[in-house]
Amino acid sequence: MKLGDCHYCGEPIYFVLDRLLGAHEDCRSRYIRARGQIVDAVSTAASTSDPSIKLLKDKVTTIADSNYVHKSEVIPLILEGWEAAIEKAVTEKDFADQTVAKFLSFSEFRFLPKKKMSNSACWSNYSEKRREQLVEVTERKRLQAQEIAQRKAQRKRRKVQQRIIDDIRNGLRIEPNVAMDNTPINFQKSESLIWIFPESEYLKEVVVQRRRHSKWGVIPTIFGMESIDRGTVGLTTKHIYFVGGKERFRIRYDRVVSFVEYNDGLGLTRGAEKARHQMLVTGDGWFTYQLVTNLAKLA
Ligand SMILES: [Zn+2]
Repeated sequence: MKLGDCHYCGEPIYFVLDRLLGAHEDCRSRYIRARGQIVDAVSTAASTSDPSIKLLKDKVTTIADSNYVHKSEVIPLILEGWEAAIEKAVTEKDFADQTVAKFLSFSEFRFLPKKKMSNSACWSNYSEKRREQLVEVTERKRLQAQEIAQRKAQRKRRKVQQRIIDDIRNGLRIEPNVAMDNTPINFQKSESLIWIFPESEYLKEVVVQRRRHSKWGVIPTIFGMESIDRGTVGLTTKHIYFVGGKERFRIRYDRVVSFVEYNDGLGLTRGAEKARHQMLVTGDGWFTYQLVTNLAKLA
């Protein structure tokens, strides 16, 4: 006795169990397996360095057509495979910029001209909205990956920097980041170069408004930081150097009464009377501060 038609192949169903599924068990498992195969095919292609979009499209279309996967289901599956590949790459330990670039080039297949896309059945349902979703997902993943890579690079840099600081504390010889003769600074013979921060900025405390009397009482002097010059900051075993376009100076560590760590640089106040606060923006406040305070202890 016939118990209805198979949801997938349309042929009659004769078994009760199949009736419960509304399909032949074999048809149903073929369909489910095919869906997984499509996701895998896309995910694998997205993980290879130079995927062939044509091969992928042919493969996906063949799998779908011969296993009852309707063309309207194909795009969501491609999206799934795409996301799976990105997810995998993002969570992998050694996710590099190169991988991001790879994904971006792979993502170009989504922007094939409409005419070309319509040649293939599986692209016909590729709506504008889906495309936007895919772009959004990719962009979000790319940003996440970038953030992870940046944090990783930052941790690596900190590790190297920490080692340099430890070496200074232990009185070991430090290999500076540039050769002595590659710097615009004239060092003394008795000192050795530890680190150079090129493209730094020198700021100095200036009077914004002088102390004055007003009808409400005395208004104290107001100070502000003013950018004076741009140039190179050099740290040696004895001095902090600054060499800019207009200004150049050398400060002995023991002439500084206080160092301040800023996010992007170092603040210092010399011991001289009426000394104004100075700031050297090196781009890395933590490292500059650690170097200077540890060198000052040894000097
Ligand atoms: Zn069937």
